[in-house]
Amino acid sequence: MTLAATPAPGAAALPPAIDVRGLTLRYGAHVALDNLSLSVAAGSSFALLGPNGAGKSTLMSVLSTLRLADAGEVRVAGHDVRRASRAVRQSIGMVFQDPSLDDRLSAEENLDFHGRVYGMPGRARAEAIDRMLALVELEDWREAVVRSFSGGMKRRLEIARALMHAPKILFLDEPTVGLDAQTRNKIWAYLEAERRTRGLTLFTTTHYIEEVAGADQICIVDKGRIIAEGSPEALRREMGQPWLHVTPASEADYAALLAAFPEARTPSPGDLSLAVTGESFVPDLLARFGNQLSALRYEAPTLEGVFLSLTGRALRDRADGAREAQRSAGRRAGRR
Ligand code: ADP
Repeated sequence: MTLAATPAPGAAALPPAIDVRGLTLRYGAHVALDNLSLSVAAGSSFALLGPNGAGKSTLMSVLSTLRLADAGEVRVAGHDVRRASRAVRQSIGMVFQDPSLDDRLSAEENLDFHGRVYGMPGRARAEAIDRMLALVELEDWREAVVRSFSGGMKRRLEIARALMHAPKILFLDEPTVGLDAQTRNKIWAYLEAERRTRGLTLFTTTHYIEEVAGADQICIVDKGRIIAEGSPEALRREMGQPWLHVTPASEADYAALLAAFPEARTPSPGDLSLAVTGESFVPDLLARFGNQLSALRYEAPTLEGVFLSLTGRALRDRADGAREAQRSAGRRAGRR
């Protein structure tokens, strides 16, 4: 299950959900966002990708009015973030990586509290609580104290809470990090249902590339700048490289192949195969080694490959893995 690419009804006629022009933000001398411009269509699913330190969190904090830019125009749901921050906050919902529910309250109380903070009248609150608990399949846990919930249930409740006041745009900062595949699928199904039925705009950062494969628009940032933008299909087509996986007939042939194609990728140590890319490789490879090969496999361009070639880093690099491990260790400690 991924974000789907079908536009919400009537989305094309609406002004953009997010419109950023020439956004620059510095931390002292360090330029975190560098003259960045982007536009997100209302009712679409937008995915922001980038290595650690690229500026993703900083951009989210500007869009959600938590931080002011040094320069540039930023409009969210049609409102200027600087001049109409209150209207922006009413129009958006946020789901952060770090849990922010009150563990001592029940699911219902957490939602009710959020509704009160947003000034929702009693009846609207009650209706929204029912609808949201049904959306994330937590009706049977309405009165249970959140402390007793699993990590996946808490994240589902966080999403329900973020949607309580019917925001037009939902910001999701790695909403599924640390969750199992089944829970991740469920969460995307809830979000997708809201997008389809009421034109909710989804603005997501994630390290799970498979989750953004069906997004309408992907934006890859690095060092505070946009380095690539487009639909997943366009990025793959225009920037991806196909690979040819080659298995030679013997170890001697493997050594000869490696010597002939030093740029080849060796997928894993001990595996007697290698991968080559570039159109000129194929005729050369077949002409020179055609009868020394036991298998050939074609690998279509992937988004992961696009990300790797643009940023020089895998989307889920070691630092991210360590960060994730640290976070889940923290969560485990918190539960004790
Ligand atoms: P990402 O979310 O993509 O990992 P961030 O937006 O957190 O990136 O950070 C962008 C850059 O700004 C990084 O180089 C980071 O070190 C720096 N940075 C982020 N927050 C601060 C801060 N409060 N003070 C100084 N530098 C910061």
